[in-house]
Amino acid sequence: MSLLNKAAVVPRALTHRELVELLTWPDADALFAAAYEVKCREIGRFVSFRGLVEFGNICEKDCYYCGIRKSNGNVHRYRMDADEIVREAEWAFKEGYGSLVLQSGELTGEANATFVENVLRRIHAFGGDDFGVTISLGEQNEETYRRWREAGAHRYLLRIETSNPELYAKLHPADHSWERRRDSLRALRRCGYQVGSGVMSGLPGQTADDLAADIEFFAAEDLDMIGMGPYIPHAETPLGKDALWTSELRKQRLELGLRMIAVTRLYLHDVNIAAATALQALDPEGREKGLLAGANVIMPNVTETRYRADYQLYAGKPCLNENSALCRGCLERRIAAIGETILWNRRGDSLHWRRR
Ligand code: SAM
Ligand code: SF4
Repeated sequence: MSLLNKAAVVPRALTHRELVELLTWPDADALFAAAYEVKCREIGRFVSFRGLVEFGNICEKDCYYCGIRKSNGNVHRYRMDADEIVREAEWAFKEGYGSLVLQSGELTGEANATFVENVLRRIHAFGGDDFGVTISLGEQNEETYRRWREAGAHRYLLRIETSNPELYAKLHPADHSWERRRDSLRALRRCGYQVGSGVMSGLPGQTADDLAADIEFFAAEDLDMIGMGPYIPHAETPLGKDALWTSELRKQRLELGLRMIAVTRLYLHDVNIAAATALQALDPEGREKGLLAGANVIMPNVTETRYRADYQLYAGKPCLNENSALCRGCLERRIAAIGETILWNRRGDSLHWRRR
């Protein structure tokens, strides 16, 4: 039996070497097709939507790769007020998105915890439990995670960024801790969230061994959702300021991102995998390509247009001047074109979580 067939039949049964072999599989199209087949068998030809609200870019952290890091003085900082966030959430709900992601820079402290808690309660008041609410608000203490869960959040996304603590240390200042981030994922599980994490692929110094270990990390932490994407340099960051960025590199970075999706699907089978917006930044059809490589979730931006340019994590963020209604229409056509159906008005919970 070929390695592709073996991976497709039994979940979580490959060795580290075999994962590396798949990540570097010579026929990329065959790899993507095998992963897409597993996705269709497990989940069907369906895509779940999450309306993404980037509600603030003020951040206490200083990750070396991120355009909205604390030390980037060229960013115009904003945080929407509660009414604006709730209005956008309501729009996504009424449009049938079925699910929402609230994301921002990392802020800690009581005032922020209460602010988010109140927003979540207001969203829960109209959406109830049928409207999936994912939050992606960085590292918090367990008490805060618990309060936000009780206020109505169902899922939490916290990327580990890389499973290699040494590589993590090169990408962050000394007071950012890989162990604390890993422990946060465990705290989120204890608080009853569907837990999502992921990594960036194509980071300087990252190897195929690292990426295989990332996929093993997803299994070891028993994650329900994976959100990962290619690393894209941002000129106003320590990591991106001198980075070479050619069309050839963009092509390679896109392919690597798709390979990570495919091998993750071939290994884990039943988790939710998002086709990250960063894929679309590298190729107008990047997200559709992500779906055809095994992803089943897309996060269309529903943030009001005037804020979008201020939430630039990397160069070339797409849909900067489009409004949410335009994004919805254009995505619907693109998804129909690849023969997939959008699960409107459904929470789209992770199958892995439901089987737990
Ligand atoms: N602040 C929260 C956190 O870090 O978990 C949530 C928002 S943060 C902007 C979301 C993700 O953006 C990060 O986990 C990181 O993987 C990704 N990101 C940041 N800079 C990036 C870059 N230059 N290229 C690709 N992804 C990037
Ligand atoms: Fe802040 Fe998240 Fe960017 Fe790090 S990745 S600087 S925590 S917004």
